[in-house]
Amino acid sequence: MTAKIIDGKQVAQDIRAELKAETARLKEKGIVPGLGVILVGEDPASQSYVTAKERACAETGLYSDDNRLPATTSQAELLALIGKMNADPKINGILVQLPLPKHLNEAEALMTIDPSKDVDGFHPVNVGRMVLGEKAFLPCTPHGVIQLLTRSGVQVGGAHVVVVGRSNIVGKPVANMLLQKKENANATVTICHTGTADIAYHTRQADIVVVAAGRPNTVTADMVKDGVVVIDVGVNRVEDASRKSGCRLVGDVDFEAIKEKASLITPVPGGVGPMTIAMLMYNTVESAKTSAAG
Ligand code: NAP
Repeated sequence: MTAKIIDGKQVAQDIRAELKAETARLKEKGIVPGLGVILVGEDPASQSYVTAKERACAETGLYSDDNRLPATTSQAELLALIGKMNADPKINGILVQLPLPKHLNEAEALMTIDPSKDVDGFHPVNVGRMVLGEKAFLPCTPHGVIQLLTRSGVQVGGAHVVVVGRSNIVGKPVANMLLQKKENANATVTICHTGTADIAYHTRQADIVVVAAGRPNTVTADMVKDGVVVIDVGVNRVEDASRKSGCRLVGDVDFEAIKEKASLITPVPGGVGPMTIAMLMYNTVESAKTSAAG
């Protein structure tokens, strides 16, 4: 069997087109969803990520309030800006680009964001609501994983999903979202991590494998069954002398070998990656709608 490749770029583009239509409808009612973006310092990866988010806002009909602050910004200055955005009715979502420079307290910054504007879904209030199955801002990358599965026609309900990785940003939330007694979820979920004795024992039983470990080849072809669906969240830069840049991006799974065994698989790049920004736009539009409804 050769797997069908899940085109994350196309799915993300579809979602952004739906959101563009939605923002056009909202505009007729005088509502323009706004995203406040805070970037501290000059980390090149963060800069290009923030630029991509700002471009996506413009294309989708969102207003973005961009704040690029020097690396010397103090914690008090950062918290003051978040406080200003919390009080600004034009801002429906606040994004603090991580990682922050070492001298800043990330947890305190994220806790300062009003949970009703926490479009990254990292505030404990939203994490708690998500776990309880209540309405919440869902974290963007895990929500993107669910959307990729659903929009590819994968039957998640009743499936056995093995998640490799238990970070607060990807592994734990995606596992939580998949086990909710809800549409597009209701799966039986196993979570593996570095403390798992025999990861292959679990992944071989999986109908769906979601890998977010941050290490190339964490899951290889001998670790999955025929017809498995594989969602690869990992992004790793590996040396490649054949490239002008001297490197290339790979995921966490042995893509070339697994694609001969799987029914569906996401590539890296072009799989989960483009979904994160699309779901950030989604959360911001939802926030504007909730705020307009009072
Ligand atoms: P992280 O915080 O480093 O967490 C990695 C998790 O994987 C940990 O729970 C770790 O276990 C587990 N792990 C590591 N090596 C393992 C192994 N060999 N076997 C089993 N479990 C293993 O990483 P993250 O933030 O979740 O990100 C994971 C990957 O996704 C990274 O490559 C990151 O760049 C990528 N990512 C992509 C997007 C996107 O595409 N938009 C967004 C976020 C992250 P322990 O808990 O036991 O240490």
